[in-house]
Amino acid sequence: MTILSVDQARKRILSYFQPVTTETLPLTGCSRRVLAEDIVAANDLPPFDNSSMDGFAVRAADVADATTDSPCTLRVVADIPAGSHPSIVLAEGEAARIMTGAPIPAGADAVVPVEDTDFNDRDAGAPPPEEVQILKTTQTGWNIRPRGMDILSGEVVLQKGRGLKPQDLGLLAMLGVASVPVFRKPRVALFSSGDELLPPDAPLEEGKIRDSNSFTLAALIEDAGAEVVRLGVAKDTYDSVKALLEKAAALHVDLILSSAGVSVGAFDFVKQVIESDGSMDFWRVNMRPGKPLAFGDYKKIPFIGLPGNPVSAFVGFEVFVRAALGRLSGSFGGIRQTIRVRCAEQIDSDGRESYLRAQVQVEDGAFVARLTGHQGSGNLHSLVQANALLIIPAGVKCVPAGQEVEAWLI
Ligand code: AMP
Ligand code: MG
Repeated sequence: MTILSVDQARKRILSYFQPVTTETLPLTGCSRRVLAEDIVAANDLPPFDNSSMDGFAVRAADVADATTDSPCTLRVVADIPAGSHPSIVLAEGEAARIMTGAPIPAGADAVVPVEDTDFNDRDAGAPPPEEVQILKTTQTGWNIRPRGMDILSGEVVLQKGRGLKPQDLGLLAMLGVASVPVFRKPRVALFSSGDELLPPDAPLEEGKIRDSNSFTLAALIEDAGAEVVRLGVAKDTYDSVKALLEKAAALHVDLILSSAGVSVGAFDFVKQVIESDGSMDFWRVNMRPGKPLAFGDYKKIPFIGLPGNPVSAFVGFEVFVRAALGRLSGSFGGIRQTIRVRCAEQIDSDGRESYLRAQVQVEDGAFVARLTGHQGSGNLHSLVQANALLIIPAGVKCVPAGQEVEAWLI
């Protein structure tokens, strides 16, 4: 089998995934969930003409000539707090005290802010005056927020596939959408593999290391909006790997994700077990880090086997799994935005598509990147010190200092 490029591998993976089913949730449970239907406004916003100031609703023509030296006196015929529904019709020479957000009474066509009147008693509970002097002119429409200025009934305001942001939830509430159709969260079964792996609370032993991938990957899965089912650690035996894959299959998860055990080592059983009841589509990608990356299915459930080295596992997630989870979750986003950054120093590469750890900062208004520490795929510290992955395209062996490359902020 010829080795696949990153792009080919990603296309092969993505073609396997369809959005999961949908569910309807109360608005309070919808933060960061993905909308499963377009949302159409059922009413105008604002729903009625209302005041944008505390002040006095007037007829603009009445106060056209008002100045501080020659104020215009109006009779105050109503008091309109927010939440009330005025039944009056303002006649010539009349005003109504009005609060921010309160409906504009019929007959009025402008609001004069209280600061532009002689009425100074602004304490809570203070009654309106009988008369008010208007000290400044106004014009039709001033300080009125007309019905529908923000949204018109019938408009599509949020599109299917959008990850709901906090402000979206506020808008849904404003539009009276109390239960929201969303895609359910994809469920991902996760396990690590290797006889050398210890849990983080175990003392180190000769020849052993602590399992870091389970923790990084579980957090990445959740960050991508999916649910993680942690299956623990498989030993480097056929039976141990098989037992965890069986468990994942029984749980009917949407994706099985593992790390390690897919290279060409004598104890790498993952590929073999997958093929016992499924198929392996590919198991290497022409990239750095992360070449040993397997994709297939076990009992028809898609399987992605990430490399064991901690940085390779992270990069493999960012390059392939994040996109797959985006597709599964019904999201039209899911892929990180790339930015262009200037390399502060020369970067050598080996011609494979490479994802290098870097610290990016703004210098003279431009993004400037410097590699962090040793780029070996086992060195998690240099990933922790990085805030970006630089993407060096396939075929490039040297990026001179000062040249721009694409990057993901992580
Ligand atoms: P493998 O793919 O099994 O050959 O593993 C490659 C490298 O990754 C080895 O040095 C492993 O010890 C290391 N490794 C595998 N799994 C993990 C893990 N869960 N956490 C940290 N390192 C790991
Ligand atoms: Mg191993």
